[in-house]
Amino acid sequence: MRQQLLLRPEFVELVDKASGIEDLNDYERGVVRVLQRSIKIAKALPPWLIAEYAKTTQEATVVWREAKAKNNYELFKPYLSKIMDLARKAADYLGWDEHPYDALLDLYEEGLKTRDIDRILDPLEKELKRIVDKVLSGSKYPREHPLEKTRYNVEEMKKVNYEILKLLDYPLGTRGRLDVSPHPFTINMGVYDVRITTRYEGFDFKRSLLAVVHEYGHALYELQIDEKLAMTPLASGVSSGVHEGQSRFWENIIGRSREFVEIIYPILRENLSIVRDYSVEDIYYYFNTVRPSLIRTEADEVTYNLHIILRTRLEKLMLTGEVKADDLPELWNEYMEKLLGIKPKNYSEGILQDIHWSGGSIGYFPTYTLGNLIATQMKYHMRRDIDVYNAILNKDFKTIREWQKEKIHRWGSTYPPKELLKKAFNEEYETKYLIKHLEEKYLS
Ligand code: MG
Repeated sequence: MRQQLLLRPEFVELVDKASGIEDLNDYERGVVRVLQRSIKIAKALPPWLIAEYAKTTQEATVVWREAKAKNNYELFKPYLSKIMDLARKAADYLGWDEHPYDALLDLYEEGLKTRDIDRILDPLEKELKRIVDKVLSGSKYPREHPLEKTRYNVEEMKKVNYEILKLLDYPLGTRGRLDVSPHPFTINMGVYDVRITTRYEGFDFKRSLLAVVHEYGHALYELQIDEKLAMTPLASGVSSGVHEGQSRFWENIIGRSREFVEIIYPILRENLSIVRDYSVEDIYYYFNTVRPSLIRTEADEVTYNLHIILRTRLEKLMLTGEVKADDLPELWNEYMEKLLGIKPKNYSEGILQDIHWSGGSIGYFPTYTLGNLIATQMKYHMRRDIDVYNAILNKDFKTIREWQKEKIHRWGSTYPPKELLKKAFNEEYETKYLIKHLEEKYLS
């Protein structure tokens, strides 16, 4: 239905006409670009493929849940094969020059190529392994912390999360809400209503708290889009990678900083009985434990991107048919061993851990690493203009928000990702800031 609506001849004709107008401003050019892109994608994919993709991934997601619960890869395997086959067909219909993966990457990150990803991930792997080894052989950051296993009172934790959102000036009750879901997310009903969720697992309270700060980062992007763009195709974040850059900035650069822990410490002390035996210092190290782990979503900022490298390499191999679903678990284990030095004991904590493949999101994983690159890139560029850590200590989040608004948020989808980064930072995706951030924080 969406495809039919987009491809109505009178609509396509209007967009075509608009693209021929010479003196469009940046916003208007952005509207034309975003609509032309949607039309191009809708034209390329045959209706049967869209239907088959939807049907297969709906079924697969249900099967995946069962397979994960039962630790049974055989259940999920035929669906994974079929999804990869459909994804390859989609890539061929969408068109590509160098690698079929290009066509899928572009769906999540406009203009992103396999070449870009290789240029980023190959050197990153070496650097990250070097840093991980050094961090683990040192004693500055702990591998474990007792609070990871300590149970908390959910009502107390809810109070903490609300107080933190108030501290960050998230417009609770006017333009935003905090609710509960098994997997935290942000949803945009329009620039005036952007809601977030978190989860309460009952232990390891940082997961619930940092999820709130992460989703706040996503929400802030949407909330700070120029109101002139409301109800236009530009009124949302431009890509998965740029979006994740905003959320990771708040989660990792702000949320895991010593300064942030210091200012939220009174909130924790007042509301959460389990932290009363711990100092600011203790909480800071609890927020920043580092160890190779099996589960991507629980990985720390030092090891996280190694998980993404694994998934990206496997996706590429499956898409070209170089690896079949049969051989995938073995290859998964081999890569885990090579990248992180550990191996899953079962499928549920290995190949079945993430929902993405069952939902057909092939080409999405690399945008997580782009997000981590953009978050650290933003940190260093921001620090040229403002004293970020002093602003945190002074609870002056407005200065940080305004900077983000000017550079990134206000534009919504006006510019494609690479052009937006060029305008904001005078460069595109860069790996050096992530390395610099990790070295300064964990190794000096
Ligand atoms: Mg996110």
